[in-house]
Amino acid sequence: MSFNKKEYDFVIIGSGLGGLACAYILASEGYRVVVLEKNHQIGGNLQVFSRDKCIFDTGVHYIGSLDEGENLHQFFKYFGLIGKLKLKKLDEDGFDVIRFNDGKTFKHAQGYDNFKKTLLKDFPDEAAAINEYCNKLQATCLDFHLYNLKTITTSTHLDNLDLLSINAYDYIASITSNKLLQNVLAGTNGLYAGIKESTPWYVHALVINSYLIGAYRLEDGGSQIAIHLSKSIREMKGEIYKRKEVVGANYNEVGKISEVILSTGETVRGKHFISNAHPSTTIDIFGEDKFLKAYTKRVQNLENSSSSFIVHIVFKEKSFPYLNYNIYQFKTDDVWDSINYTQENWPKAYFACTPASSKSKKFAESMSVMVYMDSEETKKWANTKNTIANKGDRGKDYKEFKHQKEQKIIDVLEEDFPGIKSKIKSVHSSTPLTFRDYIGDKTGAMYGIIRDCNNPIKTSINSKTKIKNLSLTGQNIVLHGILGVTIGAFVTCFEFLDKHQLINKVKNS
Ligand SMILES: Cc1cc2nc3c(=O)[nH]c(=O)nc-3n(C[C@H](O)[C@H](O)[C@H](O)COP(=O)(O)OP(=O)(O)OC[C@H]3O[C@@H](n4cnc5c(N)ncnc54)[C@H](O)[C@@H]3O)c2cc1C
Repeated sequence: MSFNKKEYDFVIIGSGLGGLACAYILASEGYRVVVLEKNHQIGGNLQVFSRDKCIFDTGVHYIGSLDEGENLHQFFKYFGLIGKLKLKKLDEDGFDVIRFNDGKTFKHAQGYDNFKKTLLKDFPDEAAAINEYCNKLQATCLDFHLYNLKTITTSTHLDNLDLLSINAYDYIASITSNKLLQNVLAGTNGLYAGIKESTPWYVHALVINSYLIGAYRLEDGGSQIAIHLSKSIREMKGEIYKRKEVVGANYNEVGKISEVILSTGETVRGKHFISNAHPSTTIDIFGEDKFLKAYTKRVQNLENSSSSFIVHIVFKEKSFPYLNYNIYQFKTDDVWDSINYTQENWPKAYFACTPASSKSKKFAESMSVMVYMDSEETKKWANTKNTIANKGDRGKDYKEFKHQKEQKIIDVLEEDFPGIKSKIKSVHSSTPLTFRDYIGDKTGAMYGIIRDCNNPIKTSINSKTKIKNLSLTGQNIVLHGILGVTIGAFVTCFEFLDKHQLINKVKNS
């Protein structure tokens, strides 16, 4: 059965931010686009859910670069999002708070001068290192053209292999021998699931810089980004369909995709196809035999970032204060070590935030607590599936597993926030399987493919594929995160549009 009997200019598989951003860009250039999303809700990691009338984010807790004039602000202006989004600026004097087991607490403040000033209070003898760190952060970001709209040239990626090969841990260790300062500078490495041996410095720099220049929460949830984008796409005659899982494709005689096949048996015809699904999942959808063997092998063997276990807590009314900052709590004295845990010492670190709600400014309605979890831990239930669009039951022992993990996290929270247990109304959680089933990658990885400074070329994914009318978009193209994915969508669309004109439109928005 042919879907709508139309041939679209662009068929986009997946409505994560990457898919929606491409749809917006292409629809605003007059192309007929359709977005096919397998879930009951659009947005991918921008999806929210509610429990006890509280809205919880699934995969976006705060975003950076949103101060006026900064790059995401400008991209969001182009998307018509500024003025529509309900944003809550995090504490300028400490939006991220790094806490260690001995009670020591350090703040990351917004704005470079404020950031330096705040750190210097705790590390008065480290002015040279702190200055060098900030200079290097800014210089690194300047080298990524699209992160710096003012000097846009041809691509976003550097051919500067020397820069891509710098290791984040090594660089920080090279500017100061003060272990505590090293830990504080890398204390938010959960933002990119940092690995001591392999995380590139540029990943650290692009992510950290973005938060230093405007860190905000999305009040009442991140889904508002997807909702506003989808409204605009529809206003431009683009189409978006939910519960439409793409499972295969048909090809014409010259090896181009003619249509995609949905799990319902329907087909959708198009001239160009853009996949927002993980590259490895994309290969499964479009058929291994359509790609070069070496490419398939490389993509399928690339390691993905750690997954997570997230505890979502609903508080009793007016019992816990709203915290206008995020907490990175470490139970280990090496922040790079928290990703390597055993059953006995889990969790070695956690990220906690109280989501911003329009209903209450003073009190927190809820808290989300995120810890690393290897997908191996949920392997036992790997053959189960459970989403709203595709209901299933993972069984009693899975519920028990989740319950035990929740309790462990809550015990740890009680140590850090004495009395918190008595304020809890209800507890909910997600596991690597939740992410696997809702997002569609194989391990429930938080941030997609791991970038490796030891092998930067091998771990970078081109938006073009061997199939002439199939392109990729999403967090694996440039970088994960709202800013990285937005930039990735432009890189994907550069294939079809004049890049200079497009970037000028962004600049002039
Ligand atoms: C726990 C967690 C916390 C995070 N916190 C932050 C944060 O605070 N700030 C930040 O900036 N970033 C954060 N991120 C990262 C950020 O959410 C992601 O990088 C970004 O949202 C990924 O966007 P994407 O375009 O790659 O699409 P995804 O969000 O990966 O979505 C892909 C979409 O494709 C759909 N799809 C897949 N296969 C098919 C198919 N066969 N047919 C139809 N549809 C399909 C999926 O259902 C999904 O909707 C976090 C991520 C996680 C997991």
